[in-house]
Amino acid sequence: MNQPSDTIFGKIIRKEIPAQIVFESEEVLAFKDINPQAPLHILIIPKKPLKDIADARLEDENLLGKLLIVAGEIARREGVQQSGFRLVINNGKNAGQEVPHLHVHLLAGRKMSWPPG
Ligand code: 5GP
Repeated sequence: MNQPSDTIFGKIIRKEIPAQIVFESEEVLAFKDINPQAPLHILIIPKKPLKDIADARLEDENLLGKLLIVAGEIARREGVQQSGFRLVINNGKNAGQEVPHLHVHLLAGRKMSWPPG
C-alpha cells in the first residue's frame, strides 16, 4: 500500500489535483466523490494521513469526532437531514477500501438497502 500522503486524497489535500471541495478546515476536508453512488456522495477526510480507523489512536479522538460533526453539517446544509443519509467507512480489503486514507462516505438522495452488499 502507498503511504497515505502519497494517495490520491493526499494530492487533493495538497491541491495537486482538483476536487469539488464542499468544506475545508485546518484538519478536515470534504469533497464530492468522483464516481457518485447516490445523488449526493461526499467524502469527508482528515488531513492527517490516517490509513483507516484501525490506524487511529486515542489522541485522534477529537479529530474523529470532527469528521462526524462535519458530515452532519453537510447533511443539514444539503437538506437531507429529514429524508435521511448514510455514513460509511470502508476499512481494508474485505470492506472494499480502495484509497488507504481514512474517509467517511456521506450518501443521500435515494432509498438505501440493508444489509449493505
Ligand atoms: P473506498 O472504496 O476506498 O471506501 O472509497 C474511495 C472513494 O474515493 C470511491 O468512492 C471513489 O469513487 C473515490 N475516488 C477515488 N479517486 C478519486 C478522485 O480522484 N477524486 C474524487 N473526488 N474521488 C475519488
